[in-house]
Formats: sequence, C-alpha cells, structure tokens
Amino acid sequence: MHPVVNQLIQLEELILIRDEQKLMSGEAHLENLNAAIKAMTGKLPRDVREHAEKLGNKQQSAIVPIAVQVCSGCGMSLPISLVQAVRLAREVHNCPNCARMLYFVESAAKRIANKRRRTGRQKGGIARFSSPSLMIPKLTSTTVEEVIEEMASKMEAEGFVEGSDKLVEAALQREAIVSTAVGHGLAVPHVRGVEGGGLALAVGLSSKGIRWDGDQEELTRIVVFIVIPTAASAFYLKLLAGLAETFSDTEARSAFLAEKDADGMWKSLAKLTRKTVK
Ligand SMILES: [Zn+2]
Repeated sequence: MHPVVNQLIQLEELILIRDEQKLMSGEAHLENLNAAIKAMTGKLPRDVREHAEKLGNKQQSAIVPIAVQVCSGCGMSLPISLVQAVRLAREVHNCPNCARMLYFVESAAKRIANKRRRTGRQKGGIARFSSPSLMIPKLTSTTVEEVIEEMASKMEAEGFVEGSDKLVEAALQREAIVSTAVGHGLAVPHVRGVEGGGLALAVGLSSKGIRWDGDQEELTRIVVFIVIPTAASAFYLKLLAGLAETFSDTEARSAFLAEKDADGMWKSLAKLTRKTVK
C-alpha cells in the first residue's frame, strides 16, 4: 500500500474515534487523540494535507474505501481503470465525483451473514438491529477480551455475523486506541467497516462488573457490542450517542440492570431507548 494512503487511513480512524468519544463522553480525555491527529497530519505531504483539511472542513472523510467498484463516500460507480490504479496504489487517487481520496480493500474478511433472521413485521427503534436472542442477562466473562469474545460468539451462534474471531480482533484493536467505556458503567465495544448485512448489536449485563478501563473508577456493568457495516457508518454515531444518553440516567440504568432474563432485557431496552434511538 502507498505509505501516504496508509497514513491517511490511520488518520481517518483517529478522527472517527475522536467523533465517537465527543458524542459519548464530551470533550474529556481528548488530549492524546488530538495530539496524535496533529502529529499525523503534520507528516502528510503538503498537497495531500491541504486536500484532506479541505474535506475535513466540510465534515467529510479524506479517504474512503472502494466497495464493489463504488466510491463509498458518494456512491458513484468508478471506472475499472481507476479501481485498478487505486488497487496498485502507486500514487494517491481521488474520486472524480466527490474528490475524496480512495483506497482499495483487498478482502472482505468480516462479513455479516445473510441468514440474519427477520421476525414478523418491520420494527422501529433499536429492535431493528437486535433480537431477544442477543440479550445476555449474565455475562460469564470477567475481562474485556473475554467479554468481547463471548458477545461476538453469541452473535455468530445466532446467525447475525460470521467470522467472529476477526470481529474480536478488530474490536480489541479499537479498544487499544481509546477505551469504549464511556462512564456510568457502560461500555460500547464495536467494529466498523464490516461488509454487507445490517448493523447488529448484542447487550450483556455483568452483575459483578468488569474493569474495562484502568483509569475509570466505575466498573462496567452494561456492555453493548455493535457490528457496523460501511453503509451504516453515518448512523452508528447517532446510535452511540443515544445509548450513552439513555444509560447516563440513573433510573434507566438501575431498571435495566434489574432485568433477569433476555425477554425482560429486550422489552426494557426498547422502552428505555424509545426516545434516544430513532
Ligand atoms: Zn466519491
């Protein structure tokens, strides 16, 4: 891969993570991220940096993947010659329509299974993304890694995703940059950029609590594991913000933690997020 493309992808990742953190926990703990973003931006060649900053000012990603010959930034079909050039990556190429820089993703390792079950009529709110079978009233794991494994395996067992080991790896990489424990005993480990399928989320409760982030005094008791396809990359930020809002409320949190079985969790989750997740 072209080194500048690689730098841009890493930079894009950090900017997205900063957006997530801002939405979930406000401006706190952003110093390290800001410093990393500044340092990485400074290393880009001048023309690329100016181009990236121009897109950033319009709240647009500087670089986006090509998904099946389509620019995932604007949705335009790209000429095969351009796709090939991006794939060879001898230089940095822009989308002729939206001007975002492009990169090529070799393989779709993390694919959401198509066999995802649909139950009955079209549901609204958070029910679109989950099912009672993805509610875990008693997480048996006690560490971050094990909990993510437990939840990803559950998703796979219920036919929502495949290749859960890859998901676990990606979720842990994300945790390594900045913890997704957002306070109030809530953590939202997640994987972005999954191919195909729809957004899926599983929710687990831990009565003992999990030490998610060494810096945080509060133990994590509610874990929401989210798998996000590229197509939902704008929506998921709203979802994260909605979940953080719901569970920052003490009453909502205790009501949810009091649930003892999957059905109770499912009903309670729908009720508590009615206003925050549209
Ligand atoms: Zn485009």
